Amino acid sequence: TQSLEPAVRPGCGGMHGSGTIAFGLWNARPPVFTHPLPMVATVILGMLCVHLLCFSTMFLLISKRLDGNRMGMEVFALGNLLLGVAYALQLVGGVADHRAIGFINHTMTLGAPVAYALGAARFFNRPVPVLRPLLAVAGLYTAAQLLVQFTLGTQARHAMLAGACALLFLAMVVALLYGMRSFAKDMRAEMTVFAVLIAGICGLNAAKLVMILHSGLPALDMNSGFQTVFYVYMSFLGTVLPPCMVWLVLRRLTDELRVMATQDPLTGLLNRRGLMACLEMHFRSRTAGNAHLLIVDIDHFKRINDTHGHQMGDLVLGRVAQVLQATARKGDLICRLGGEEFLVVALDIEPAGVFLLAERLREAISHSEVPSISAQGPIRCTVTIGVSESFSHPQALDAVLQQADAALYRGKESGRDRVESAFAPLPLPA
Ligand code: GH3
Ligand code: MG
Ligand code: MG
Repeated sequence: TQSLEPAVRPGCGGMHGSGTIAFGLWNARPPVFTHPLPMVATVILGMLCVHLLCFSTMFLLISKRLDGNRMGMEVFALGNLLLGVAYALQLVGGVADHRAIGFINHTMTLGAPVAYALGAARFFNRPVPVLRPLLAVAGLYTAAQLLVQFTLGTQARHAMLAGACALLFLAMVVALLYGMRSFAKDMRAEMTVFAVLIAGICGLNAAKLVMILHSGLPALDMNSGFQTVFYVYMSFLGTVLPPCMVWLVLRRLTDELRVMATQDPLTGLLNRRGLMACLEMHFRSRTAGNAHLLIVDIDHFKRINDTHGHQMGDLVLGRVAQVLQATARKGDLICRLGGEEFLVVALDIEPAGVFLLAERLREAISHSEVPSISAQGPIRCTVTIGVSESFSHPQALDAVLQQADAALYRGKESGRDRVESAFAPLPLPA
């Protein structure tokens, strides 16, 4: 191709042209330079192909490993494959190829961002189909290419690709900006990086469209400064975006692991490890006041299981968890210790307040019910609550658990459905 021809002006090689007057020695031995750009453009395009295809393989391996929720990685793999092959075809056939290979190249180039968008939808848990939309886009775009080629010519076909890519990338940027406020709130920084990088390629495609419309096919000359900038930027994206995507997957996985490690799966409440982490975070604050621990134990829960079955028992546990969350104060920590025992850590509270809170929790649970289709009607339950003395550091958890447990035991002994505290109960207001 034209891109591999040597420069015809030795001594005026590439970037050093104007510098030759200043350096006598340089002029004395005029070097026979080849123009550096064609080689650079070819190497950039080649490296871009290698990156895209390697990361395509890597995404595929990751998606196989993820198995259950592939997070769209298999679709990103497909997007990279399409773009990698499209650039390989470009290397083989040249940029402005108007044979069949050029049409396939354009369709694949456009298919890649469509695949990336579908992969992103899957990453954000939208179960979108992939093959059909991609085949539909490929069919429609190939038909559009044929129509444009035979009515308006090659220049218009290239302009159409640049315009379509610019629009697709613009849509992606808009979707990312919208996502930062809705479905991707927890990944704002990452979405900003993606939006900025994709806005860059959107702008370059728009510029390419203007240049093709203005100066025709010479705008696509691989020797031109614009094409070099274009492909250097594409190469930069091809190198930077895949690790960013791997980072997103890593974030998702570690977030899920953290939730699994700190949450009770049945009720969604904190488990003991999660409670400990929250307590450590709370007491790290200099303004943290005293806390009290409450053990909430469902009365005669075994009977509920025996009468209505284990499944209904689970529903009762879920209902009690909901009532605790709805009735406790905002910021109080609620945890399922195991079985039918719950912990509530009331933060920044006085003894009189914690007693009132415990009474409020007990009463709310006794008034709640779980609908049942059995003849006995809805299931109700009561709880006994043991309240600890105040504490102000996380290491005291074991000690206050023992205090609250002893109080709970006294509550069970004296008839259940009541609040007992490790400190002298304050008289309730009339
Ligand atoms: P008490 O008033 O003295 O607390 O009596 P209780 O029946 O509530 O207490 P006990 O410790 O005798 O029984 C607790 C029961 O909780 C026994 C166990 O089968 C049941 N249980 C523990 N974990 C679960 C669970 O995850 N789901 C269900 N449905 N039942 C559970
Ligand atoms: Mg019990
Ligand atoms: Mg118990």
